[in-house]
Amino acid sequence: MAKEHLMNTYERFDVIFERGAGSWLYDTEGRKYLDFVAGIAVNCLGHSHPAVVHAISEQSKKLMHISNLYWNEPQLLLAEKLVSYSDHQKVFFVNSGAEAVETALKLARKYGKIQGGEKKNRILYMKNSFHGRTLGALAVTGQEKYQKDFMPLMGEVEAVSFNDIEDLREKANQNVCAMIVEPIQGESGIIPAQQSFLQEMRKLCDQLDALLIFDEIQCGIGRTGKLFAYQSFGIIPDVICMAKGLGGGFPIGAILVKDEAAAAFSPGDHGSTFGGNPLACAAACAVLDELMEKKVIEDVKEKSEYLMERLEELQKKYPAIQQIRGIGLMIGLCFDREVKEIVKKCFEKGLLVIGAGANVIRLVPALNIEKKEIDQGIKILQDVLESTFA
Ligand SMILES: *Cc1c(COP(=O)(O)O)cnc(C)c1O
Repeated sequence: MAKEHLMNTYERFDVIFERGAGSWLYDTEGRKYLDFVAGIAVNCLGHSHPAVVHAISEQSKKLMHISNLYWNEPQLLLAEKLVSYSDHQKVFFVNSGAEAVETALKLARKYGKIQGGEKKNRILYMKNSFHGRTLGALAVTGQEKYQKDFMPLMGEVEAVSFNDIEDLREKANQNVCAMIVEPIQGESGIIPAQQSFLQEMRKLCDQLDALLIFDEIQCGIGRTGKLFAYQSFGIIPDVICMAKGLGGGFPIGAILVKDEAAAAFSPGDHGSTFGGNPLACAAACAVLDELMEKKVIEDVKEKSEYLMERLEELQKKYPAIQQIRGIGLMIGLCFDREVKEIVKKCFEKGLLVIGAGANVIRLVPALNIEKKEIDQGIKILQDVLESTFA
C-alpha cells in the first residue's frame, strides 16, 4: 500500500510503529525497540511524555489555530520563555527546520541591504553542512549529493571549509551579509566546530556588520547539556535557528534573534500561516518547562559522560571504532568502514540508531533516557559489534 500511495523519497526500515513510551517504541507485531534516534533528535523527552500529552490535549480543546492576524497566549508565553533563557530579544515562529533557515536567510538579505546596499547580499556557509531541503536552505547545504539534481539554486552563496580559519578569512568581505554554521555538524557526522573557529566567525561578522547564524536545529534544545548550543561554546550568534527538539515531537520551529538584527524585518516582509499556532506553542512550552524548571537538562552532562565511558569500553574491544566524538547527548561513533550493516543489525536486535555520513553511527537518544536504558542499548550494540568483528 505504501509503495502505491507514497512518493518514493525515503529509504525506510520494514516496520510500522504503533506507539511509544519514553525511550521505547512498539511495532504493530508487538515487538519493542530501544530508541537511540528519538525521531532524529526530536523527541527530547521521549515518546508521549505525560506533560507534553497533557499540554496538547488541553490546548486542543481550547484553540488550535487562529492565524497571525491575532495574538494567542501560548505563542506569547513561548516567546517569553525563549527570550528569558537566551541572550536574544525577538522570536519568529515557523513549522520546521528548513523554514527556520529560510527565515534566517531572508532576514540576512534584508539586513545586508539596509546596512550596505544591494551588493551586501553574500552568504557564507560550511562545506559538509546540512540546513534543510528547501531551495534556499539547500543552497547553503554544502553536500553535492543533496544539491546536484536541483540546480540552479539561490546565488550569492559561498562554501567555506569547516573549522578552517584561513579559508574563512579569505572569503569574508564587505559583500557578506551573513555566515551560517552548525555549532555541531549533525547530518554529516557529528563534527563539533572548534571554538576558535566560531570566535573568528563572530569577530569577522562584527567587523563586516554581517549576521552570525547558528543552525541549532539538531544540536540545540538541551542536546549539549545547555538549552542552546551556543551557550556550550560561549559565542553569541545574532540568529539561532531551532526546530527538531523544540516541540518534543510536535512540529514547530523558530528563529531567536538579537534586537538589532530583528529590526530589519517590517510587517509584510515575512510570514507563515501555521507558524506559532497555539497548539504547537503549548507543546513547546511544556517541553521547555520540563527541560528547565523540572531540570531534565541538568542530568544531560552526567548521562553523556556515562554513555561516553561505555562507548570507550567498546572502542577498546573493537578497534574498528576509530573515534568517539560529540557533546552531551549528540554523539558520533566513527568507524573505519560504512555503518549501514551495523545500523541494520542493531534494528534487528531491537535498538534504533541512525547513521550520519557513511561511516558514523549517530546516537541522539531522548535527553531523559535512563542509565539502565543506556546499559541495555550498549549491550545490544556490543552484541552486534561482536557478531560483525569477532
Ligand atoms: C534536520 C535539520 C534541518 C532541517 O530541518 P527540517 O525540519 O527537516 O526541515 C536543518 N538543519 C539541521 C542542522 C538539521 O539537523
